[in-house]
Amino acid sequence: MPEHVVTEQALRELAARAFDTPVLSVYLDTTPEAGNADDHRARLRGMLKKSTLQADAEAILRYFEQAHDWRGRGVAVFSAQDADFFQVYTMQVGLRDQVWEGRHPYVRPLVALFDAYGYYGVVLIDKERARFFFFHLGVLEEQEGYEGQEVRKVKAGGGSSAPGRRVGAPGLDNYLAEVIERNMREAAHAAMRFFTRHKVRRILIGGSEENTALFRKMLPLRWQSLVVGTFPIEMRASHAEVWQKAMEVGAEAERKQEARLIERVRVEAAKGGLAVTGLDETLGAVYEGRARLVVVEEGYREAGYRCTGCGFLTTQPLEACPFCGSPLEEVPDAVELVVRQAIDKGTEVEMVPHPLDDIGHIGALLRY
Ligand SMILES: [Zn+2]
Repeated sequence: MPEHVVTEQALRELAARAFDTPVLSVYLDTTPEAGNADDHRARLRGMLKKSTLQADAEAILRYFEQAHDWRGRGVAVFSAQDADFFQVYTMQVGLRDQVWEGRHPYVRPLVALFDAYGYYGVVLIDKERARFFFFHLGVLEEQEGYEGQEVRKVKAGGGSSAPGRRVGAPGLDNYLAEVIERNMREAAHAAMRFFTRHKVRRILIGGSEENTALFRKMLPLRWQSLVVGTFPIEMRASHAEVWQKAMEVGAEAERKQEARLIERVRVEAAKGGLAVTGLDETLGAVYEGRARLVVVEEGYREAGYRCTGCGFLTTQPLEACPFCGSPLEEVPDAVELVVRQAIDKGTEVEMVPHPLDDIGHIGALLRY
């Protein structure tokens, strides 16, 4: 992973870290479509003009004047000068300009990017070899391949030594099938080592319909469940082609998976099963560690209250925390806080880029 790419570990640290002083969070779109470096800086100055955190605003502007490498398509910067904290992440995917001041780094846009572009493993497969790719937040890396026994040579029956042999003879067919199966099995093993090393969360398989199906069957069930799609592609495809195809198929799979999830939350909650909907119930479920997965509308914000003792969140203006008795303080966005809490606890968070009115903008699947 190149420098400055935000990893899962880094995201969890950002979500878990407590600050005594305010933090300025800036997300800046640095795509060529949004202009050149001067344009980006001008927009940033405009965005930071009204900031109450002048030392942080200056530190961020200084960074973009002097140190930033403009090759990325999006940048996230978190600054808390009083806490001696300054963190920059660049990505190869676009994002929306945003500024946020609060007592913690604003992580929600990052979570949404992880959702859409995080930790993909891609395999291109044919009967003889495999190519492995990993991409995360727009950075595509190809690493090691697999070279199996050539199937064509086998087909020729070992060349001139067996001139009379007909392709398609029963013995030869079996032999070919064995070679193909062994190649596929070995490719699957190599792929799993690769996936494990990169901690991939979802897998795409490229190749002919027959080959992708064969390869998929070689994966253990646990890995099969991570396969979100397959697509036809040439074995010698360029990185740009792999990237484009994988993004297309990945985005489509993500939309379908979201739709299934939302439906499941809605149905389970309606029958009083293992799901809750709406902010207050979701806040409670995450706090108690019952939430297995939180699904939230990307732009949803709601003020609420947080316990100054144990961090319990609620939309109710309670006198004291029901868990520890400490006083509560008002917070401008309880949704952002519950997302942080969820990430900190290792609960999965699904950000949905469209309105979720029918589940009250937020909901969760429960463990119990
Ligand atoms: Zn409390």
